[in-house]
Amino acid sequence: MDGNKFILDEAKLPKAWYNIIADFPVPLPPVLHPATLQPVGPDDLAPLFPMALICQEVSTERYIPIPEEVRAVYRLWRPTPLVRARRLEQDLDTPAHIYYKNESVSPPGSHKPNTAVAQAYYNKAEGVRRITTETGAGQWGSALAMACNFFGIECKVYMVKISYQQKPYRRSLMQLWGASVTPSPSPETAAGRKILAQNPDSLGSLGIAISEAVEVAATNTDTKYSLGSVLNHVLLHQTVIGEEALLQMEMVGEEPDVVIGCVGGGSNFAGLAFPFLRGVLCEGAKTRFVAVEPKACPSITKGVYAYDFGDTAETTPLLKMHTLGHSFVPAGIHAGGLRYHGMAPLVSALAQAGYIEAVAYHQNAVFQAAVQFARSEGIVPAPETAHAVRAAIDEALRCKESGEAKVILFNFSGHGHFDLAAYDAYLSGALQDYEYPESEVAKALAGLPRAG
Ligand SMILES: *Cc1c(COP(=O)(O)O)cnc(C)c1O
Repeated sequence: MDGNKFILDEAKLPKAWYNIIADFPVPLPPVLHPATLQPVGPDDLAPLFPMALICQEVSTERYIPIPEEVRAVYRLWRPTPLVRARRLEQDLDTPAHIYYKNESVSPPGSHKPNTAVAQAYYNKAEGVRRITTETGAGQWGSALAMACNFFGIECKVYMVKISYQQKPYRRSLMQLWGASVTPSPSPETAAGRKILAQNPDSLGSLGIAISEAVEVAATNTDTKYSLGSVLNHVLLHQTVIGEEALLQMEMVGEEPDVVIGCVGGGSNFAGLAFPFLRGVLCEGAKTRFVAVEPKACPSITKGVYAYDFGDTAETTPLLKMHTLGHSFVPAGIHAGGLRYHGMAPLVSALAQAGYIEAVAYHQNAVFQAAVQFARSEGIVPAPETAHAVRAAIDEALRCKESGEAKVILFNFSGHGHFDLAAYDAYLSGALQDYEYPESEVAKALAGLPRAG
C-alpha cells in the first residue's frame, strides 16, 4: 500500500470498547470518599451519573459492547482516517514513517464526541431529562451539546467567564446545537453566588464551573452531570480510536514502534494507546507510549502520584493520580484543554508502573511544530494536539540522526480553527513561554488531602 490515507469500511466500525482494567498489570487504587476516606460505592455516585456509566467505571469486563444507537451516531464521522504524513516526512528528511489518526474530522472538531455521544445515550436510556457540565475553551461543551441534541436531552453548560467573553465562537456552536450556556461564576448556584459575593468581577475557573455544574446535578433529580475526561468510563469510550487504528495499521502492514498523544486529563492519549497497550500486556509487544504535556502544567513529569480532589472546590471524590495539587492554577497557555492539575488514574498508574513515558514542552516549540505540520500536511492542529505533533517530529528527527526507520503513530486529537488568535500571537512573536512555577506547585501539593 502506498497511499496517504487509510480508510476503514463503515462495516469495520468497532463493536466494542476495550476496558484495560481487565488486563491491568498493577493493582488499581480505589476512588475514595473525601469525608470517610473509604472506597466510594455506586450509591455515592448515583446522584451524579447514570448507573450504566457507574458500572462501566468499575467494570472488569475486557470488552464492553458499543450500543447500536451509539454506533449509528459514530457513523456520521467514524471510522476516522489514518493518514501517513508523507509530506511532513519529506520536509523533515527522516527515514521514519509518521502516521496520525485524524480525530479532527468529527463535527465539533475533536475526539470528545466519542464519549459525549455514549454518555448522552446512557443518560437518555435511564430517563435523565437534563445534563450539566463545565467547559473551559468550549471543546467539551460543544461535543456534549451536539450529543445531547441527538438524543433529545437538555444540555446546560457552565462556561468559564473569561472564555465566554474571549471565545464567542465555541459558545455559538453550543447554542447552535441547542445547549444553554451560562458564564461561570453565575448567580444561579450557591457556589457561584459565594464567589460573586467575594469578587463580583471574577473571571471564573474550571474548578468553579465544575462546582456549579455538580451542584445543579446533585440538587435536581431529573439532572445528571457529565465529565469529558479523566474518569475510567470516558477513557473506555475513547478506545474506539485505538481499535480502529489497530485495523488500519494492519491494512498498511506496519506496527507502530511508538504511540504518542497529548494529555490534559488523558482521554485522547488513552483512547489511541490502550488497544496497542493490550499488545504489550497480553502478547509481549515492545511498543513505546509517550504522553505529551505542557511545561506550564506538567502533571506527570513534575507532579506527585497521590490522592487528590478532581476539582478546585474540593467537591469530588479523591482520585489516586499524578497531580500538581487541586489549588494549582496553571498559566494561561493557549492549549486550554491541557490546563488540568491532575491526570486520569488509569494513565497515572501505567506511567507509575513504567508502561508510559511522559515529556513536556513549552508553547513556542509546540506552535513551531504546529505551523510546520500545517505547512506540510495542510491541517491546522488544535494547540493541544500540537503537543503531540511536536513529540512526533522530535522522534522523527532522532530517527534522522540514528538512521532508524521507526514507525511513529500519533493522535491528531482536534483542529485549531477556533484557535487562530493563538496562531496570530505565535506568528507575531507575542507568545510567552511559562516556566513551571515550582514554589506555587509546592504550595498546592502541601494542600493535598491526607489519604492513602
Ligand atoms: C480536550 C482536548 C484535549 C485534552 O483532553 P484529553 O482528555 O487529555 O484528551 C486534547 N486535544 C483536544 C483537541 C481537546 O479538545
